[in-house]
Parts: sequence; C-alpha cells; structure tokens
Amino acid sequence: MNKIIENIEKAEATNSLTREEIIDILYDNECNEVLYKAADRVRKKYMGDEVQLRGLIEFSNICKRNCMYCGLRSGNKNIERYRLMPDDIIELAKKGVHYGYRTIVLQSGEDDFYTIDKMKYIISNIKKLNVAVTVSVGEKTFEEYKAYREAGADRYLIRIETTDKKLYDAMDPGMSHEDRKRCLRDLKKLGYEVGSGSLVGLPNQTIESIADDILFFKEIGADMIGIGPFIPNADTPLKDANSGDFHLSLKVMALIRILLKDINIPATTAMETLDKNGRIIALQSGANVVMPNITEGEYRKLYALYPGKICINDTPAHCRGCITGKIQGIGRTVGKGKGFRNKASEKK
Ligand code: SAH
Ligand code: SF4
Repeated sequence: MNKIIENIEKAEATNSLTREEIIDILYDNECNEVLYKAADRVRKKYMGDEVQLRGLIEFSNICKRNCMYCGLRSGNKNIERYRLMPDDIIELAKKGVHYGYRTIVLQSGEDDFYTIDKMKYIISNIKKLNVAVTVSVGEKTFEEYKAYREAGADRYLIRIETTDKKLYDAMDPGMSHEDRKRCLRDLKKLGYEVGSGSLVGLPNQTIESIADDILFFKEIGADMIGIGPFIPNADTPLKDANSGDFHLSLKVMALIRILLKDINIPATTAMETLDKNGRIIALQSGANVVMPNITEGEYRKLYALYPGKICINDTPAHCRGCITGKIQGIGRTVGKGKGFRNKASEKK
C-alpha cells in the first residue's frame, strides 16, 4: 500500500508521526482527501459533532508593531485607524450574548491605550454576562497577563506565526522569538487555555519548518491552534508575495487534529477568503470552532489584517444566522456551552 496512506492510518490510530513522516505528507498531494477524512474521524471521535461558536470583537486596529504581513502594522499609513471605548466594547459583548454566543473574543492590534485598568474593566464587565472570555492583544508582561486572568479572562490567543527563527526575525522586525515563547509559557503558568497557531505560505517558509510548527504545538501543550494561509496585503512590504496555498493550510490543520486529537481548532476566516466554502471544508477536515465577527459597521472593514476579508458588509445578526445554517447543512450542531477544552485524558 502507498506509504503515505499507511502513515496516515497509523497516525489516526496512534496520534503520532515522526518529523520525516509529517514532511512526506506535507509534500504529497495525492492523498489529501484521505488525510482530511482521517482528521474528520478524529474530530468526531474526540470532539463530537458540536461546533463551538465564539463571537469576535475587533476593538482597535491601532498597533505599535510592524509585522511585515499585516495591514495593521504601524508603518501602514493608508489605513484609517479606530479604537472602541471600553463601554462600547462591553455593549458589543452584550449584543453578542443576545445573539447566543457563550464566548467573547477580544482582539486588537497592540494598542497601549488599553492600560491594565481599562482591560480589567472591560474583561470583568463582560464576565458578568456569564460567558467565557478570550483575549488576543499580543505580547504583554507576566503582570498584565496575570491582571487579565484575575479579571476573569479564560483563554488567550497568540500565534507563534512560524517556528523558523530566521523567518520570524525577517517577518516581525524588532520582535523576538524568545519573547513570543515567553508569552506562551507565562499564559500556561497562569492557567489560561492557550491558543496559538501559524501562518502558512509566508515568503521563504519551508515545508520542513511547517512540520516543526506542528511538533511545536504538540510540545507546548496548546489548547487551541488556528492555522491560516498568508494573504498578501497591498499596504504592506509583502504586497507582491504569493498567497499561501489553501490545501497546504488545510493539510497542516488536519495533521494538527490527528496529532493533538482533543484540542479546539477553528475553521479560520482566512481559509474562507481563499475558498468560498473554506470554513465548511475546514470543519469537515478536523476543525470544530468558528469565530464569527460581532464587530459592527465600518470597523469590520477597517480591521484589515489582509484583503478580501469575508462578511465585511454583513451585520452580526446576519453572520450568526448564516453560519448556523451552514453548520446544520453539514449535519453538525452549534454548541450550547462555553466550549472549554475537554481533555480526552481527563474524561471518565
Ligand atoms: N495583534 C495581535 C492580534 C491581532 S493579529 C497579534 O498579533 O497577536 C491576529 C493574527 O492575524 C496574527 O496572529 C496573524 O497570524 C494574522 N494575520 C495578520 N496578517 C495576516 C495576513 N496578511 N494574512 C493572513 N493572516 C494574517
Ligand atoms: Fe500588530 Fe498583530 Fe498585525 Fe503584528 S499581526 S502588526 S502585532 S495586529
């Protein structure tokens, strides 16, 4: 039998693969469907048919960092900037709860306007709504992460972006891989559910380094991993670079499901930017989470990490109905709980 298929079957049974085996699967393109189906079975076995929805609030597009790939980078002078006031963010969260979300995700550029006190105010007031709170505001000190946690934050998302140190240094000027890893360690120590992830298709990224990304996620004991294809943004230095490949991104996601069996994996918005059914295909290839946008009006458009972002003219209510219909259309259900990670090893 084809060696690749044999390895996918072995991985499905044991949830493990060597680096070489991962690399072989990533290079191969004949067995993609076999891989997606195996990941879908692992998802069903460990996570069931529920899809967890998280309501995403993009509360500021102001960022002091200068990541080469991102439209919010401080060097981009072509973007109109905005920041929502704490009470407005809380109001949006209330509407999110009204639409039925049980997790609110607070995401922004690295914007120092939001001091520890402001963040504590925002998080603690949203916690009063009886929801889980996820924060994704970049690199902060241990003290800041601790303060958010004490205010009630349950989860934190910070992607490693790539584990290739040289590539990271080139893509994230002035930032360090060590700092990024320190953040992930601090968050774990503080008892957060930790989410990370990577970009697939960055210029000069190798297949070997993507295999290392996958093994890295296993090593750090991530609770959630989001994989997105890199999409070039005309307002960044990478404007002429090629887009990441949809199927390579999907394969990375499927491999992560097979190897990290019981973590939460979102069907990312960037996947849907590259394929109009991207999120549904991802949900059928290992993913179990979707993060619909609950940001309102103009701000949706202005939170322009990359071009072609989906649903920028839709209302939060429309998005909720639309994604629910799509999920039910593939025979799955929308989770009613807060969607915490349920470790297989801790199940009775
Ligand atoms: N400032 C925070 C959160 C916002 S950025 C942070 O950086 O952690 C959220 C994610 O958007 C980043 O982690 C990155 O992986 C993704 N992103 C940025 N630019 C992108 C692009 N051009 N294509 C695809 N994803 C991109
Ligand atoms: Fe800022 Fe995050 Fe974009 Fe980097 S990826 S420029 S930190 S918003």
